[in-house]
Amino acid sequence: MSDPRTVLSELDGRVMDRRRFLAFSAALTGTAMYAQLRGDLAHAMPRAAGYPFRLGVASGDPTPNGVSLWTRLAPEPLVADGGMQASDVAVRWQVAGDEAFGNVVQSGRVAAVPELAHSVHVDVTGLRPGRRYFYRFIAGGEASPVGTTMTAPAAGARVSDLRFAFASCQKWDDGFYSPYRRMAEEDLALVIHLGDYIYEYGIGSGGVRNASLPPEFAPECVTLERYRLQHALYKTDTDLQEVHRLFPWAVTWDDHEVANDYSGIFPEFADTSPEFLARRAVAYRAYFEHMPVPTSASPKRDQVRLYRRLRYGDLAEFSVLDTRQFRTDNPCGDGEQPPCDAGYDPAATMTGATQERWLLNGLERSRARWNVIAQGVMMGQLKHDADGGRFWQDAWDGWPGQRARILQGIVDAGVSNPVVITGDWHSTFVHDLKVDFDDPDSPTVATEFVGTSVSSNGDFEVYGPYYGPMVPFNPNIKFFDGDRRGYVLCTLDEEQWRTDLRMVTTVSTPDAPAYTFASFVVEDGRPGAQQV
Ligand code: FE
Ligand code: CA
Repeated sequence: MSDPRTVLSELDGRVMDRRRFLAFSAALTGTAMYAQLRGDLAHAMPRAAGYPFRLGVASGDPTPNGVSLWTRLAPEPLVADGGMQASDVAVRWQVAGDEAFGNVVQSGRVAAVPELAHSVHVDVTGLRPGRRYFYRFIAGGEASPVGTTMTAPAAGARVSDLRFAFASCQKWDDGFYSPYRRMAEEDLALVIHLGDYIYEYGIGSGGVRNASLPPEFAPECVTLERYRLQHALYKTDTDLQEVHRLFPWAVTWDDHEVANDYSGIFPEFADTSPEFLARRAVAYRAYFEHMPVPTSASPKRDQVRLYRRLRYGDLAEFSVLDTRQFRTDNPCGDGEQPPCDAGYDPAATMTGATQERWLLNGLERSRARWNVIAQGVMMGQLKHDADGGRFWQDAWDGWPGQRARILQGIVDAGVSNPVVITGDWHSTFVHDLKVDFDDPDSPTVATEFVGTSVSSNGDFEVYGPYYGPMVPFNPNIKFFDGDRRGYVLCTLDEEQWRTDLRMVTTVSTPDAPAYTFASFVVEDGRPGAQQV
């Protein structure tokens, strides 16, 4: 089957022939296809609707010859329909080599349709590797802000260095996005978001942002309309918008894009139900509508293909995982629980069998020097008491059997420099990853950096006093901090990986300074981080 990305890039209303249309229809079902089919029928947006690009622009998933572009037309982001009429709108897009768009290298037209909240996803191809590009959208006589992005280096090309940042957990009402204001000052090839991009909870007025929101924001997200409102609210933050405008992102999700600590089709404490399945489906749809993901991530039969690979020549390969959608229910129960035999049942899985095979097969084939596994929840072990009587079941400690199988698979495949990057815990952890964490002689086979939250927990709550005392009886933990907000900066070359923990002094103001709280290196060929 032809790659839907190739087809979509040419959907400017002229070039889609019948064969390609059929391939495209087979690849994309439902509303995403609908958006493309109606491209020619879409109307110009009436000017009176207001400036349509108030949620900004974004790019994502760079390849050597392309990148995915995103925007959503929403002149009034905090109302249910974004201030749009329930009709299709024609949107033009342009990619240029220069900021003045004198040298437009790719362009097209696409329909923004109400079924997808007038969001726009374009998988651009035909670009050159390792290049910086400018892009914009035009609708209703208005032009969007000009975004900048960067394609990946040519496949297998020798790449001497790479700088990227990763972040997670950005509860809007817990704090301003001062970490993003500082991230915007970096020079980055890529930003990776590891989940909890939104939180599903209701938001009242007041709080650290002194918010004054419509009453529709008070209840928790359950319906499509409510999830859309939440995404739109988050995207109105200008610091978040700016980091999207400046750099391509690669995103994956954790639990709060749907509901706290859900596992696959199972809500946190209950059995699955038609209500939960419906909730998950609309949450996934709203996520797709608001993220700069490729059209291959559009929901199909209420599922989303989010796990995927990004490659940076011979230097780095990123396996971006989905550690939520395909989980079996927590084998040993929810929250903090003792370990149990079911955690070693081969059928208990955090990724699903298909994704596990995809991960290990890909790692085995990879020729990259650094093999990054970007995923949601902490892989390293954290005993909550000295005798290992309790573990946090929502993270990999709840799936110890599959964790050992994956780490053993990495050893067996001789994977070059495996490094896991993680979100979720609102804390920093640096781990030596081991096939058998309980055997002190078990070798370190991979390195894990768990990044803290952008804003979740704000300035008020601290995890240090709770988890800090556990560190001494967890020798695989090389570093821990539970009390700071920020992002993680990673600089790679052929000899070493460097991690800088970039922390802000506060999230009670959007303009807080950042500082490097600690730095680590991983040397080529030697798993495990050393603090420098
Ligand atoms: Fe979180
Ligand atoms: Ca989480």
